[in-house]
Amino acid sequence: MKIAVIEPLLQSRKNVIRDVIYGCWCGGKRIGGASVPPFEQLTVATILKHDGHEVCFIDAQQEQLSLEQVADRIQGSQLVITSTSVMTMRDDATFVRELKTRIPGLRAAAYGSHPTFKPEETLEKGYDFAIQREPEWVLRDLVRRLDAGDEDGAAHVPGIVTRGTDGTLIKNDRYPFIDDLDQIPPLDVGLLPRDYVYFNPIVRNLPYITVSSSHGCPAKCSYCTAPFFHGTRTRFMSAGKVLDDMAYYLNQGMREVYFRDETFTADRQRVMDICTGIIERNLRFSWICNARVDTVDPEMLGLMHRAGCHLIKFGAESGSQTVLDAVKKGITLQQTRDAFRWCSEAGIATHAHFMVGMPGETLETMEATLDLAIEIAPSTATFGICTPYPGTPLFRDVARLDESIGDGSDNASIERLHVEGDYNRHYCSVDGETLRRTVKRFYRRFYLRPAYVFDSLRRIRNGNMLRNAVIGGLNVIGFALGEKSS
Ligand code: SF4
Repeated sequence: MKIAVIEPLLQSRKNVIRDVIYGCWCGGKRIGGASVPPFEQLTVATILKHDGHEVCFIDAQQEQLSLEQVADRIQGSQLVITSTSVMTMRDDATFVRELKTRIPGLRAAAYGSHPTFKPEETLEKGYDFAIQREPEWVLRDLVRRLDAGDEDGAAHVPGIVTRGTDGTLIKNDRYPFIDDLDQIPPLDVGLLPRDYVYFNPIVRNLPYITVSSSHGCPAKCSYCTAPFFHGTRTRFMSAGKVLDDMAYYLNQGMREVYFRDETFTADRQRVMDICTGIIERNLRFSWICNARVDTVDPEMLGLMHRAGCHLIKFGAESGSQTVLDAVKKGITLQQTRDAFRWCSEAGIATHAHFMVGMPGETLETMEATLDLAIEIAPSTATFGICTPYPGTPLFRDVARLDESIGDGSDNASIERLHVEGDYNRHYCSVDGETLRRTVKRFYRRFYLRPAYVFDSLRRIRNGNMLRNAVIGGLNVIGFALGEKSS
């Protein structure tokens, strides 16, 4: 069966590169103008290819392919698969509907947060199948049945929401969360567009690949979809499998790996085993990961640095303990201070993500957040407006008070993500306009400090780092001093 797995080109902003929503966007631009290999789509494409299907993987965003060009490439496909979130739903659905008019018999499946939490709305927007929660085995089983001509079986695969031939809604039980992540094959990097190098200013060595070696997060932050998409029981690839995959990627020419796990450091012993294995097997590559501040310690960070980790991204979120507690972040300000100091002592750069407009936020707590950002001195920081995503407790609270939020997608777009505060008035005392101005002011205050500029210049070791600093710096300045600055 011929299947197209596509990262669509967003119509609303041609140069927007999407993939990771968390903490990297500003006004529709990724800070630094980065592009990220879409590992979730690549995982799905790899699994289907392993299962014997003809897979056409297209990153239209990276290649800037028009709808017509994509349609030409995937002619003959029977199923198109996209990942979609609340922010991209409108664009994705338009793209898919247009493809279906150009390719006879094409059906469409969507996975991701929006199909998971709003499956009926996903079908209404033109998809034939909405996949709830983790898509890997659901899509494998769906395609197997479609390939066998078993329409009834396809409609009843667990994890699928679809409509029967008479239009009735078929909502199956959820597929169990994937227990054994070692069954997921390493990403087929040969499927990535050949002539396009993914550039990212936070990456030291190109080419790079993004991967995930665990599913889920032990925390339950009230604004985050991860605990509800993946569950709160974190499941891990074994250290041995991670090491084998790394060896494979290095063989494929990759020089850096970005672990996109929600919390790569959630299992301390596994991190120690991976790092020890990298050193013992002499796997030479640099890497980045996401972590929570309460899951790191000096010994672990020292070993991570020796194993090639050069950057850790943390969600510091707020300088107010009251606000952190209100969103059930489960960390203390002291843990944040410790984690950033330990990283600095270990020689690992840090990225801190902060939000304003969280539940219980006031003008004073926002200033405490800026103070904390300056105090802990991360290498880079992002500031965004807390946004209620469908599927989260925060969204449910807002929906109870304000029906206009609908399924969350009508007013949502990448351009507005984390820079507009449409609904924050329902849970904090700061209005949307003040939040918008605060985000820009925080960027200026954080990045345009002489101490920060001097420190950044001091860290530059080679031409690559200089290029990244210039590109990243210009993007940040452009955003912070942009037309709507206050
Ligand atoms: S720690 Fe991060 S990934 Fe985990 S629930 Fe909180 S925001 Fe989500």
